[in-house]
Amino acid sequence: MDIRELITKSSKEQREALLNKEVSAVELTEEIYNHVERVDGEIGAYNSLTKDFAIDTAKKVDEKIKNGETLPPLAGIPLALKDNINLKSYPTTASSKILENFISPYDATVTKKLKNNFIPIIGKANLDEFAMGSSNENSAFKIVRNPWNKNKVPGGSSGGSAAAVAASEATVALGSDTGGSIRLPASYCGLVGLKPTYGRVSRYGLIAFASSLDQIGPITKTVEDAALLLNVIAGPDEKDSTSLSQTPPDFTKDLKNDLKGVKIGYIKELCSEGLSECVDAAIRKSIETYKSLGAEIVEISLPLIKYSIAVYYVIATAEASSNLARFDGVKYGYRTKNPENLYDMYVKTRAEGFGEEVKRRIMLGTYALSSGYYDAYYKKAQQLRRLIKQDFDNAFKKADILLSPTCPHTAFDIGSKVQDPLSMYLTDIATITANLAGIPAMNIPVGLDSEGMPIGLQLQADCLNECKLLNVAFKLEEAVQFNYSNPLKTLV
Ligand code: GLN
Repeated sequence: MDIRELITKSSKEQREALLNKEVSAVELTEEIYNHVERVDGEIGAYNSLTKDFAIDTAKKVDEKIKNGETLPPLAGIPLALKDNINLKSYPTTASSKILENFISPYDATVTKKLKNNFIPIIGKANLDEFAMGSSNENSAFKIVRNPWNKNKVPGGSSGGSAAAVAASEATVALGSDTGGSIRLPASYCGLVGLKPTYGRVSRYGLIAFASSLDQIGPITKTVEDAALLLNVIAGPDEKDSTSLSQTPPDFTKDLKNDLKGVKIGYIKELCSEGLSECVDAAIRKSIETYKSLGAEIVEISLPLIKYSIAVYYVIATAEASSNLARFDGVKYGYRTKNPENLYDMYVKTRAEGFGEEVKRRIMLGTYALSSGYYDAYYKKAQQLRRLIKQDFDNAFKKADILLSPTCPHTAFDIGSKVQDPLSMYLTDIATITANLAGIPAMNIPVGLDSEGMPIGLQLQADCLNECKLLNVAFKLEEAVQFNYSNPLKTLV
């Protein structure tokens, strides 16, 4: 296979080519950089490139192949790392001016695992500032464009990670998901995106947004690649007190199981009103496909979903206001020039260093936590969060997997929602509850709308049931045969 075609494939084809010595890992990595050079000026997926690191890793892979050593499954496979995850000695900016010149002093746990698996990190992927957003228009540096149509958003906040994979500027990527930031961009860019169970993957070295919701996960072209990347990053970590103690299974083990007797519940509240016509049709078709694969379809009601956006935006902003207090001009990154005194330094640094959306969240969160309002907002939101979790517990007594769209509509035009934060927040209606409940959830592409933009289906499972989730996704992927390489027709 021609190397320009090879970079557009999943890890499976790339690994085969590496093992058959059709191409070396260094050649594959170099070709990715040539491609980034060709297309990233228009896409904006990367904040920075980490070429010497990637080439160095690729050389190690080639050495191993030469010596006939066994290769970890994703060794030599180019990866984009969201720029809120630390890679030692390279910049981590969270797409914020306040961290513009920050160099990571240590590796995140996931990054260490990538290194142990000889995965070349191509660069740090653009995102909404501090992962706050749904369209990647909140980056302090540049917007990201959707490789399927450059006038559309790629989704957020992991827009750079998704655009990098969709444009084949990386084969796989890591994103982070606090309220949908892996699944939404995966949906808009025609990719697989998986938010694991809360605690499955260590958050050590991920810049915190809302600690009780944040989770790192894979964005890939195929379900199998998502499972393989989850194998690399999952597992207990003594550096993260919220990481789960359970030893993770091999997440590829159940992929091919048949679906006879599997109960799939479509979520009534998310599958009825407010869907665009194409999304509605794609969901119905997916349900029919599942029926034909032997699954049993049931209706599930999650009546409290209507409160989820309100609950999320109280809890997430409250946690963010506390997490972001550390950026004060003393310890990291940007500091204002010529402050009058210490207090003035704090105020000006934060006023100049944070973008508009981040400030909005800090103000909302501080308000929700302030004495006198704490009970009315934060406590109430936590109570509702518990009830939402109970709704899910009940739902999983009736179904193994829950099905809904990932978003009521497909990718929207760049600029069309920036003036209206509330309508931006509403794009997360289907994704947010998985973070509130801590359950695993994923997007898989199921078709295209009338403008040729990808449509995403969301599947959710009970805590720690990623294997079943991946199995149900894999079977639909097989049936749908989604063509993820479409964007390259216009790009290359
Ligand atoms: N769009 C949501 C927000 O802006 C979710 C972001 C995320 O998952 N990081 O908060």
